[in-house]
Amino acid sequence: MKNLADIRADFPILAQKVNGYPLIYFDNAATSQKPRCVIDSLVHFFERDNANVHRGLHTLSNRATAAFENARERLQKFFNCETLVFTRGTTEAVNLVARSWGEVNINEGDGILLTEMEHHSNLLPWQMLAQRKRAKLHFVSVNENGTLDLVEAVELLARGDVKIFAFPHISNSLGTINPAQQLCAMARDAGVTTLVDAAQSVGHIPVDCRALGCDMLVFSGHKMCGPTGIGGLCGRTEILNAIPPFHGGGEMVREAFFCESTYQDPPYRFEAGTPPIAEAIALAVAADYLDEIGLDTIAAHDTALVRPLREALESIDGLRILGPNGERASLLSFVVEGIHSQDIITMADQQGLALRGGHHCTMPILRKLGAPSTARASLYFYNTIDEVTRAAEILTRAIRLLRA
Ligand code: PMP
Repeated sequence: MKNLADIRADFPILAQKVNGYPLIYFDNAATSQKPRCVIDSLVHFFERDNANVHRGLHTLSNRATAAFENARERLQKFFNCETLVFTRGTTEAVNLVARSWGEVNINEGDGILLTEMEHHSNLLPWQMLAQRKRAKLHFVSVNENGTLDLVEAVELLARGDVKIFAFPHISNSLGTINPAQQLCAMARDAGVTTLVDAAQSVGHIPVDCRALGCDMLVFSGHKMCGPTGIGGLCGRTEILNAIPPFHGGGEMVREAFFCESTYQDPPYRFEAGTPPIAEAIALAVAADYLDEIGLDTIAAHDTALVRPLREALESIDGLRILGPNGERASLLSFVVEGIHSQDIITMADQQGLALRGGHHCTMPILRKLGAPSTARASLYFYNTIDEVTRAAEILTRAIRLLRA
């Protein structure tokens, strides 16, 4: 692994003071920071290669097209998937699946299986589909310790009406790492299609579609050191071939007539209009960067940092951490008796510590757990043990002051 000082030097944004204190960026579950090579890739594209893809026969357009398609290939390898459709991110990709896959696979009375820990992005599109098709939503319960009730999952998959099981690889508010491979195998045994929401796992742990055995997987580039506005749907080609387009427009059409048209094959069928070209290319650079460090190394570093932060927070009187005690992702959501999470976050920010507060787009599960608003610290491989120590001090002091 590159040594830590080298890694931090790759992220120009980290070397700044916020409110007079060195920035401690612990909001990585919302978005990650970008290494210099990703920033340079964006600049390089706009300075040298900028042209639209798949359209022109001129040199710049050919260069842009080659770089864009190479990026797709690179990312297909990164995720070990059959076909990668570029989308704006996880949210758009789930909407694509709910709309296009749902159009031909969900009928009145069918079941859609989700979990109680869904991000709104993997909830609302299914609610809309269920309403449109008069389908039913079912939910795998979350236990008190933040894990899924796997016995119930098997029972729900065996109902007979369930057509798709969509679940998060990692919960963004509980930090639970779901046994995705096992869940996909259970669904496959029941003849149910799977969709993995990998928004929180990409760039943190290895995400390998073939190894997971999923039918489809969605992700956002901005959480894995890539730019905003780019992400994707990884899918089995057979499944994508069998579903209609999401958006209509240029590039997704084979032949257009006044009253009807024929469509391209996937992935182009699902990429109407000009795509985020520079962003896709820069995302492939981010994948190279992460692979150079190694996803296993990143995961080990995350785990090594989150443990001491957890111990420090647990020693604060009245502080409750949501989610599993044992293995967990590198994020900690917590509530403190008698103190509003917004107040903790504001005080932390005054000392340069960036946290996130609120419902984290997971209102239903936080309501169920009796913690409708939490503060969340989420770490990444460029964070340091020194930052963990300082963050623990800042939070301990802030909570003491807020209690006084
Ligand atoms: N699912 C999960 C688990 C997430 O954490 C997020 C982002 N917080 C999303 C989906 C949505 O991702 P995006 O906003 O990048 O589309």
